[in-house]
Amino acid sequence: MKCLICRNGETRSGAVTVPLERGGMTIVFREVPAQVCENCGEAFHDEAVTASLLQQAEQAALAGVEIDVRRFAVAA
Ligand SMILES: [Zn+2]
Repeated sequence: MKCLICRNGETRSGAVTVPLERGGMTIVFREVPAQVCENCGEAFHDEAVTASLLQQAEQAALAGVEIDVRRFAVAA
C-alpha cells in the first residue's frame, strides 16, 4: 500500500521492533509483523497485531513486569 506518512513510498511486508511504555513499565516486542515503508521507514500494523500488542502489554503490567524484551507472539 501507499505510505500514509510520507505519501511517497510503498510499504512491504516485514517485521519491526516495537517498544511500549505504560506507567513505569517498558516492554519491547521483537519481530512484530508490519508493513514497512521503503521510503521513510514508518511501520504499520494491522488491527489484530495492534490489539495483541496492547493485550500482551496489559498482561505484562498485571504480572508486575518493569522491563522486558520478548518475541512477539500472535494470539491464537
Ligand atoms: Zn513513508
